[in-house]
Amino acid sequence: MKKKILLVLVVLVAAVLGGVFYMISPSGDIEKYAKYYVDDTSSPINGKVKVTFFGVSTLLFNDGETQLLIDGFFTRPPFLKLMTTELSSDTVAIDQLIRQYKMDRVKGIFPTHSHYDHAFDVAYTTKKMNAILYGSESSLNIGRGGGLKEAQLHLTIPYEEIQLGKFTVQIIPSIHSAPGSVKDSGLVIKEPKRQPAKMKDYPEGGTFDFLVKYNGHQVYIKPSPNFIEGALDSIRAEVCFLGIGTIGTKEPAWQNQYYKQTIGKLQSKLIIPLHWDDFTKPIDGHLDMLPRFVANTPKDFDYIIQKTHADKIDFKVLQAYKSVLLF
Ligand SMILES: [Zn+2]
Repeated sequence: MKKKILLVLVVLVAAVLGGVFYMISPSGDIEKYAKYYVDDTSSPINGKVKVTFFGVSTLLFNDGETQLLIDGFFTRPPFLKLMTTELSSDTVAIDQLIRQYKMDRVKGIFPTHSHYDHAFDVAYTTKKMNAILYGSESSLNIGRGGGLKEAQLHLTIPYEEIQLGKFTVQIIPSIHSAPGSVKDSGLVIKEPKRQPAKMKDYPEGGTFDFLVKYNGHQVYIKPSPNFIEGALDSIRAEVCFLGIGTIGTKEPAWQNQYYKQTIGKLQSKLIIPLHWDDFTKPIDGHLDMLPRFVANTPKDFDYIIQKTHADKIDFKVLQAYKSVLLF
């Protein structure tokens, strides 16, 4: 009898573990989309801008003189650690990435909002790069908690234009994707946020898109997949870095509105997806799709590929640390 109970228990535990493993495994195989990979390795010269991807929506812009960083999120502890412990920026990994990718001319860091997977590392990266942190009150309080001086903090206001070298970054008000289990949209970090801290200690604090203007060219960055109707009516951008995480699971009417209110307005000629990778895995040269319990990433990719294909718009994918040369 005891043996039978033990056997049932073993089977039950195995089933639960198997279920958990299944749910946290990638929702699809990114290599099926390898034909869309882009990897420009040359240096940015003659008015070109090189953009390098570090997962989620962390992008390094570089024209050979000036560098800008969107988000600057590099600490990616494994799922269990992320869910159960207080965390600090992985300074060893960040230092290594700064050296390896020569982030020695970063003038500005622009977190899109203050969630963990965007703004967790802004204090350390801003300090280490001797840059300026441009963001919401929440993002600046993450900077303050990490010891940044007021001179390194710039509170952005809607539609403000920030000039850094030959780049102009315009702050475009946006909204976060519809909240799932964490309903913290608009919740502000009002005090300096010190580390170690838990993922849930980083509420949204307001969401921005960015319009990067360079030498007559325009690039739009929309990390969080949602839209304010009409907000992009008068904006054009030949390139759009577009957040696609979870769009494939939305109603077709919403999907089509999202596409119409973003790419339809911007009239972009090249789309590069953001926010499709599992940030509970270190980058290590390869990004996997978001896990099954949060997304169906192949559906997200298939939707945007089908739309861009029909509209004859170029679609490219950046893997970890890969770059695209623009213009
Ligand atoms: Zn977020």
